[in-house]
Amino acid sequence: MLQIEHVTKRYGKTVANDDISFSVESGQIAVLLGPNGAGKSTIIKSIAGLLRFQGKVTLDGHANKSLEAKRILGYIPEMPAVYDLLTVSEHLEFMRRAYRMEDDGYGETLLRRFELWEKRDKLGKELSKGMQQKLSICCALVHRPKVIIFDEPMVGLDPHAIKELKDLFRELKAEGAALLISTHMIDSVEDYWDVTHIMKDGKFAATKHNTSEELQSQSLEELFFAITESQVAE
Ligand code: ADP
Repeated sequence: MLQIEHVTKRYGKTVANDDISFSVESGQIAVLLGPNGAGKSTIIKSIAGLLRFQGKVTLDGHANKSLEAKRILGYIPEMPAVYDLLTVSEHLEFMRRAYRMEDDGYGETLLRRFELWEKRDKLGKELSKGMQQKLSICCALVHRPKVIIFDEPMVGLDPHAIKELKDLFRELKAEGAALLISTHMIDSVEDYWDVTHIMKDGKFAATKHNTSEELQSQSLEELFFAITESQVAE
């Protein structure tokens, strides 16, 4: 569903992504795990069509910058970008209009889940950082995307919202969406993932599948620290 082929992104002399290839299938949750500066945001932004890069990214066979790809993409950025002068409800209305869709009630469902329904008449600028993050998640999901990319989605969320988000990950997976989640917090990954790519210096240092056989040989945490510590030793 989501295909990344030989993506390289440089900022001047910094190689933020170095020839990265991987794919995420429908019904799969892939995690990008890595320390700050590993290149997670860069690959996420490249997929979202926000950066120029070398290589190829396709969503359901469509080039990532095409309209067809954008229709099926949901992107939750690291920094929520809400409109100061739109209310919570108006944000969802804006998204539905952008995607030319009728109100099917899903927006309300999402707002209720994230405890924003009571805040639906509040302006974007009146929301706390955590509420803005939750609104950003609702906006990215209201058109029922098939490919969803989350950049550090847990940061700034309260425990209730984190639980809702984790439940939502599992539901979206069950509905057949392809999910890609970046995080530097190993604890937040838990058990819902299918494949985790551990990133270091713009590359995949290791890829681990969530099968009992693989996890018996080495836990994700052990692998992560083995890689991170080797980074410190260098
Ligand atoms: P992560 O999301 O894993 O923390 P990033 O993708 O943000 O990592 O950054 C990867 C590398 O690219 C880092 O060395 C970072 O300093 C660099 N970088 C990221 N954004 C920019 C930018 N806009 N200009 C220059 N360098 C950048």
